[in-house]
Amino acid sequence: MPEALYPNRLTDAELLGARLHVADPRAAFDLLPHVPDAARMAGIVASYEHRPDKLRCARPGCGTPHYKGFVVQLDTGEHIIIGHVCGKAVFETDWDKLEEEHRHLRERQRLLERKQTFLKTHAEVIRTLRSWRFMASAVQDARRALADFVPELFAALRERATRGSTALTITVKLDRQTVEAMREAQAAAGGRGARQSNEREETVHLLRGADFFGATSLRDLVERALSGLDDAAARLGTADLSNHAMQRALRQAVSAAGDLRHVARLHAAAREALSNENLAGLVEWWNRSQNENALSFRHDALTVTRRYEKPHELRVPQMPPLDDSALIRLES
Ligand SMILES: [Zn+2]
Repeated sequence: MPEALYPNRLTDAELLGARLHVADPRAAFDLLPHVPDAARMAGIVASYEHRPDKLRCARPGCGTPHYKGFVVQLDTGEHIIIGHVCGKAVFETDWDKLEEEHRHLRERQRLLERKQTFLKTHAEVIRTLRSWRFMASAVQDARRALADFVPELFAALRERATRGSTALTITVKLDRQTVEAMREAQAAAGGRGARQSNEREETVHLLRGADFFGATSLRDLVERALSGLDDAAARLGTADLSNHAMQRALRQAVSAAGDLRHVARLHAAAREALSNENLAGLVEWWNRSQNENALSFRHDALTVTRRYEKPHELRVPQMPPLDDSALIRLES
């Protein structure tokens, strides 16, 4: 009897390269057409899925060929293909145990592949992502500078960002003539003559990058993600991990990548928020809503002029675009 290469005897390194799934089992194995009498199974060596056409399985009397099934190694070392239901019918209690073993091995193989990919890229990826700390600090510094510059303006924007509203509106008083014209138009359209308000909301600007004004701390997010990645790498670097332990460490890495994706979105929001168009719109809205022209913006600088005070200027920091190629590698 030949020494059978049961997949459950493979080391992790061997399992990584093992062929546990094939498209066409006829090309990969020498197959017996039928299960011999009193044959016992040594194990499932591979599953197959042959979409071009169904394959006839080795259960004697099986009338329906199958697209999907398993390559079974018999205790004689020979191979057959058989469907899930037919396998259970022929091999009875052995089947469930060995099918579960096969499922476990395929799961382990997938996890080992993900672990290998992660360990191969993580050192470089984490090194690159450490530089995001500076970016996160720059965004937070810019936010603080803006908040200190005109605190009432920043508080108003933060309140809107928290509500998820981007319309920066002012209340415009309508003159008597306009109110009268609107009431007549309403009556002509068959309206029931509800009291016509003499005020109207007017949108001056649609706030861009609203999340920049929200309360999330980018630095905390980056730190949390980096320590999550370090932790996952340390765990995955340990030998002989169970499937469950690998799964947990890989989930930790995925969650860290999610945090970093969020950081990248907030960085993009900061760029939008600090763009010239947005700042010009903000200034116009603030001046009109306050009925004064205390704020002005030009050449990347905001200036506030208050009575009896020297004009006060804020150079608006420019946020360079964020290179997220390391994150993309981590996510893949
Ligand atoms: Zn069958």
